[in-house]
Amino acid sequence: MDFSQEVFLTKLAPTSPYPFLISIERAEGVYLFSPNGKKYLDMISGISVSNVGHRHPKVVEAIKNQVDKHLHVMVYGEYIQAPANLLAEKLSQLLPAQLNCSYFVNSGTEANEAALKLAKRVTGRTQIVSCRKSYHGSTHGSLSISGNEIKKRTFRPLLPDVTFIDFNVEEDLRLITDRTACVIMETIQGDAGVRVPSKNYLQAVRNRCDETGALLIFDEIQCGMGRTGKLFAFEHFNVVPDILTIAKAFGGGLPIGAFISSYDKMQLLAANPMLGHITTFGGNPVCCASALAVLNVIEDEKLLGTVEAKGRLIESLIQHPKIKEVRRIGLMFAFDFDSAERVNRIVECAKQRGVICYWFLSHPHSFRIAPPLTITEDEIRLACSVILTAIENS
Ligand code: PMP
Repeated sequence: MDFSQEVFLTKLAPTSPYPFLISIERAEGVYLFSPNGKKYLDMISGISVSNVGHRHPKVVEAIKNQVDKHLHVMVYGEYIQAPANLLAEKLSQLLPAQLNCSYFVNSGTEANEAALKLAKRVTGRTQIVSCRKSYHGSTHGSLSISGNEIKKRTFRPLLPDVTFIDFNVEEDLRLITDRTACVIMETIQGDAGVRVPSKNYLQAVRNRCDETGALLIFDEIQCGMGRTGKLFAFEHFNVVPDILTIAKAFGGGLPIGAFISSYDKMQLLAANPMLGHITTFGGNPVCCASALAVLNVIEDEKLLGTVEAKGRLIESLIQHPKIKEVRRIGLMFAFDFDSAERVNRIVECAKQRGVICYWFLSHPHSFRIAPPLTITEDEIRLACSVILTAIENS
């Protein structure tokens, strides 16, 4: 019953007709273990979540310590609790001065929803500018600002007053005006197949926002937390957003997100209307304890300094004439092939041989690699040889 495929397929609501359908009983480091003894090397980190590996001992220890003290005691924003305090303090030390105030939520999409509300509240404006091909989440607001029309069509009406621009195209920035509440973009577009903008572009976005008074929101839900070799991807570009959203790897395997801005802006959430943004579980103490441990592990193990060399090693090992293009920053990869069918065959073949790769939501003829940042050179060599064989056989 525990791992019954029938229960999974009939009693749990699906997200697609083609679930991955492997059973996982245990996970450790870069490995996932099936109840039948099969082991998988996880080259996608549960989609950019397990950046410090699965069940990092320091993360598990922090969770256990907190479980022994207290779980949920009150909704967000009322009681003083050590885990949220310590996490907020740590983030403000790690981030530029204007990002000194955090609001903890439960997921990525929720962080983006709240960031949009904050931008409207701060500016008194309604227009939102977002990018084509972006992915910001699945709830109504985040779906409204995501670029994939096929995913949106059925759910209209969505948010009004959203304008789309092409990512990394400077001419489109003229569509940001003094009516614009905010511009939201992924610093690195993830589900569009790893799109890295030019330095000039992000600086031009920042300038245009400053000229028009629009707030700049960077969604680093996928590309943050060390994935690109910097703790936050915007550090590569010398550009600081007005609001930063994070989630996924932030919690080290527990659900937590955050939107982070300046103290002054955040104060507005408490007035006109009071309680204008509230959440029951935001700042959950166990999740906050886990997130703080993740930040400490990234720092103590000096993981950021290892990311680029590991990324280069993977890039040098996975070379094959069938690969049309590789896009990479740090340990975030897209490999393009000639068709989605070939990508499916490669992903399936790698899975059979014990290595997990995956595709992208909005770019099905690419496959994705985003391993835990803790992966070793030996593990990289092993995974890459399996992936090469999968490419060769597909
Ligand atoms: N933004 C980006 C860039 C993402 O990659 C994702 C998740 N793939 C989200 C937002 C939504 O996060 P969540 O699934 O936690 O709601």
